Amino acid sequence: MKIARFIPTGSDTPAFGVVSGLDEHDEVTADTTIAEIDGHPFGGVDLTGRTFALGEVRLLAPILPSKVVAVGRNYAAHIEEMGSSVPDEPMIFLKPSTAIVGPGDAIRLPVESEHVDHEAELAIVIGRLCKDVPLERVGEVVFGYTCANDVSARDFQKSDGQWGRAKGFDTFCPLGPWIETEIDPGNLRITCAVGDDLRQDSSTSLLLRDVPTIVAWISHVMTLLPGDVILTGTPSGVSPIVAGDVVQVSIDGIGTLENPVVVAN
Ligand code: MG
Repeated sequence: MKIARFIPTGSDTPAFGVVSGLDEHDEVTADTTIAEIDGHPFGGVDLTGRTFALGEVRLLAPILPSKVVAVGRNYAAHIEEMGSSVPDEPMIFLKPSTAIVGPGDAIRLPVESEHVDHEAELAIVIGRLCKDVPLERVGEVVFGYTCANDVSARDFQKSDGQWGRAKGFDTFCPLGPWIETEIDPGNLRITCAVGDDLRQDSSTSLLLRDVPTIVAWISHVMTLLPGDVILTGTPSGVSPIVAGDVVQVSIDGIGTLENPVVVAN
C-alpha cells in the first residue's frame, strides 16, 4: 500500500491517503487517485470514502517525524569516491525535522555554500515507539519506506568537522512521494537523475549495513518514535546541483521524488 500525505481539494487541512492507479514503474498517470484516510494510518487504515484525482491535490512530505537519523558511509563505492573509509561501527548524524520538504517543493541553495550535492537514499519510516529492537523484530517497528534526498553542502561538511550545518539547512531533506508499506528493502534499484542526466544508479543490495542492522543499532542508541525517519546512506555518483536543476530520486517499487533547485534569498 502506498500512503501519501496531501491537501485535499477545497481544504486547507492535510490528510493521509491511499494512492492507486500508478503505472508499472509506480509513476503517476491520468488515472492515479488518492483515497482519503480517516485520521492517522498507523495502527490501521480506515477510509473516509472521499477520493481525489492525484493531479488535483497537492502532495506533502509523507510524514512529519520527530527526528531524521541518517547513516553515513554505507555504500562501498560512495566511500571510495569520497576518499573515506568504512567505519568500524555505523556512522550516524541527525538532520533537523525543519529540513523536510515534500514532492515538488524547491531545494533552496544557501548563498554562502559553493558546493551542494544530491544524495539519493532509501528512507525507513518507523511505525511505533521502540527501543533496543532485536534484529529479528525490526520488521515489527518499520511502517514502510520512501525516497529521500540527503542534500549536503559539501564545502561545509569538510570545513566544519561536524555535519550539522552541512546537512541541516531548510529544504535539505526532501521526502516522498509517498510511503510504501509492503516492500522488501533488500534489493531495490535506487537512482538519482538531474534533468536527463542519470547521476546515481545502484541497488539497496549494496548497503554495507542493511535495514535490520541499522534499525537495531540506532534503536539501541536512542528511542525511536512513530514517524521517525532513518536515511540509509547514499550510493556513488553524488554530484553538485545548481539553480534551475530538477532532481529526481527514484526507488523501484516506491516511486519518484522530484524537486526543483533554486537559490535561497
Ligand atoms: Mg547521506
